[in-house]
Amino acid sequence: MKPIYFDHAATTPVDPRVLEAMLPFFGECYGNPSELHALGREGRRAVEAARAAAAAALNAGERDIVFTSGGTEADNLALAGYLERFEPGHLIVSAIEHAAVIETARALARRGWALDVVPVDRDGLIDLDAYEAAFRPDTRLASVMLANNVVGTMQPVGELARIAHEHGAAFHTDAVQAVGAVPVDVEELGVDLLSLSAHKLYGPKGIGALYVRPGTRLAPLLHGGGHERRLRSGTENVPAIVGLGAALALAVEEMPERRPGLLALRERLAEGILGAVPEVTYLGHRTLRLPGNVAFAVRYVEGESMLLQLDQAGIMVSSGSACASGSLEPSHVILALGYRPEDAHGSVRLSLGRQNTEEEVDRFLEVFPPIVEKLRAMSPLYHAGA
Ligand code: PLP
Repeated sequence: MKPIYFDHAATTPVDPRVLEAMLPFFGECYGNPSELHALGREGRRAVEAARAAAAAALNAGERDIVFTSGGTEADNLALAGYLERFEPGHLIVSAIEHAAVIETARALARRGWALDVVPVDRDGLIDLDAYEAAFRPDTRLASVMLANNVVGTMQPVGELARIAHEHGAAFHTDAVQAVGAVPVDVEELGVDLLSLSAHKLYGPKGIGALYVRPGTRLAPLLHGGGHERRLRSGTENVPAIVGLGAALALAVEEMPERRPGLLALRERLAEGILGAVPEVTYLGHRTLRLPGNVAFAVRYVEGESMLLQLDQAGIMVSSGSACASGSLEPSHVILALGYRPEDAHGSVRLSLGRQNTEEEVDRFLEVFPPIVEKLRAMSPLYHAGA
């Protein structure tokens, strides 16, 4: 039987059309975009065309896009690069940020920045009162993700950015999970900085971008030849940049036609699980969530055991954030939603993508309940009724 891939929040396959667009830049079009000769100019044209495509996809200006090595670097550049200009002051992030934001914020805290981590509610929505109350006269930046990678909850980023601006602070959003999955318009959102990553939207790994609103000044993290408007030195990864541009253009163009099918699959899956397995909690907000995300906690069972059993049945899922790979720590996201460590340990994330079908969802719904039953039969906690 063909394996079933339900882990698109971890990464997606490269769209064949994206690969096709990239291929010439591994071969005959190998010029360094900084060189003035014909091959160099060809590389430059390709990079700038990709920048224009990325800008158009976000309703940004072409000069506002900085290519990076991925979402992690974009997040690092947003936080550390922006705050580098200031004397240490105060910084706000949410409790469910990806490690790329949280660890950067912690690193800044070690360098003297005061850090406030704002809580979220049971659905994963930021506590707006706590967020607003966190601002201080010396708050320079707030960073709250657009969509969460574990539970899929989407934040009211437009409102959060407005509040940050009212307090004289800049606003960054990690939109790595959102871009390509839901419409993202930097003007509508009013954000100053926004991170994205190509491998979440059927583009290649190792390439991403930071949107930088005009007038938002950053210090580079990488020093060198002054590429990317001096914000990110290093010879451009031309094939990957071309891939990012192509993937973003396709994602935006095809989103309206793909969205209803994805939502229908998500609901079929969520309802099927909740109907078939007792003592399951649906994690995240029921409607304000990514169209492909289904996350739930199964009591008395370890997420990793479920993951491995499903893997044996040819179904690939995640038990938390793949970005914290190998870690058996309970997900900080699920704990931040107010669940107990046992619930966090029993969590599973299914993230649907373009190629998934109703048949695959139904196969999961057939295979999963007996797996839970078998694992519960072996669980001392289940028998103790804990
Ligand atoms: N931010 C979020 C929300 C993510 O889900 C991820 C990756 O999973 C990243 C940042 C990191 O992106 P990249 O893998 O491109 O470094």
